[in-house]
Amino acid sequence: MNTELSFHQKQMQNEFRFFASKEIIPFADQYDEQQQFPPNLIAKFAKSGYLGAMISKKYGGMEMDAITFGLLCEEMGKASVSLISLLTVHGMVSHAILRWGEDNQKDKWLVKLSSGEILAAFGLSEPDAGSDPSSLETTIKNEGNFFVLNGRKKWISCAQIADIFLIFARCDEQISAILVEKNTPGLFCKPISGMLGFRSAMLGELFFDNCRVPKENLIGRIGTGFKYVANSALDYGRYCVAWGCVGLGQACLDACLEYTCTRKQGGVLIRKHQLIQKMIADMVTEVKAARMLCLHAGCLKEIADPGSIMETNVAKYFASKMANKVASDAIQIHGANGCCNSYPVQRYFRDAKITEIIEGSSQIQQIIISQYGYQNYLFKSKITRK
Ligand SMILES: Cc1cc2nc3c(=O)[nH]c(=O)nc-3n(C[C@H](O)[C@H](O)[C@H](O)COP(=O)(O)OP(=O)(O)OC[C@H]3O[C@@H](n4cnc5c(N)ncnc54)[C@H](O)[C@@H]3O)c2cc1C
Repeated sequence: MNTELSFHQKQMQNEFRFFASKEIIPFADQYDEQQQFPPNLIAKFAKSGYLGAMISKKYGGMEMDAITFGLLCEEMGKASVSLISLLTVHGMVSHAILRWGEDNQKDKWLVKLSSGEILAAFGLSEPDAGSDPSSLETTIKNEGNFFVLNGRKKWISCAQIADIFLIFARCDEQISAILVEKNTPGLFCKPISGMLGFRSAMLGELFFDNCRVPKENLIGRIGTGFKYVANSALDYGRYCVAWGCVGLGQACLDACLEYTCTRKQGGVLIRKHQLIQKMIADMVTEVKAARMLCLHAGCLKEIADPGSIMETNVAKYFASKMANKVASDAIQIHGANGCCNSYPVQRYFRDAKITEIIEGSSQIQQIIISQYGYQNYLFKSKITRK
């Protein structure tokens, strides 16, 4: 694995850093407080091409390689991991259409998604179906040229601003994926506010009451919704969140380096204390380790290695745990100042917790990763016995 960034990747990294420092960092606390993703910022994301980051050029996207896209998520995550929700869910839906859509569906949606003319959200979770989406209850019924949707979706990032939703529902007991436009009669979105973190993600709850959707909006086939469409979109989402956590961890570390070089107690800068240095050393190491796991997953994605899916699980699991540990230590280092909204570390701490819940909670990742460990072990021991 080559961990050295190419000249082009470094150039793009500088561009992302500049964008984040100018357009996001100065306002991130304000957006968090107002629980907003302001339209002018969305327009700037769109203008920069970031909403079509990994979409092919044929459909107006930037066709970034996986590492460059990771760097984008890292830099945006450093500024506000809550704001990368849009890159995540919009990208998940675009990716699903690109991967599983018919040519006419790609032509119809992808150019608009890449340019930001329309925004997309991903609707899998329900009030009673989170970690186990196979228990979802929203239904699709066949009715002539239409599918009729009934049910509810909850915790949908960017639901308040999205123009289309990729909805997962049961059609004759088989989970299927379908695009539903915002203005479809029978669809109602109720904003969710008061979240612990990811407060700029503009979450919503969706209600479908005999919502008639044209049949041509089905993505993939009846029954391929979870196994194929959702799973590949979740892999994309996990990759994005893992890199976002690296950014969040780096933001915590940077904040602590600055704080410990100015804060004095007993006439001594707190950076002189070995116990503080220990926390900084752990932060430096853990952020680097998470970045390496993300790079590894990205390198495998670049060569379409099927192992990239497991490496993305590992990267997301480690990076979100790292973000929580590092953000917690960042509060510790800042003392009472860290508990107050004059310093961004309290936002990092609140946002970090969310990353252990979304795109497969830490417990679900533990199950997946341990199964992978056992599979490898059992496979090797079978070969050895032979
Ligand atoms: C800010 C935010 C944004 C979100 N955005 C979206 C979105 O855009 N689209 C979308 O579809 N969903 C979204 N979600 C929902 C998210 O995907 C779910 O919250 C997540 O899947 C967990 O489901 P749950 O909250 O129902 O928890 P539950 O599934 O009820 O889990 C509760 C606890 O039990 C643990 N648990 C569950 N099953 C097991 C098991 N088998 N073994 C061990 N432990 C287990 C979990 O890890 C967790 O700790 C979002 C959530 C948040 C907080």
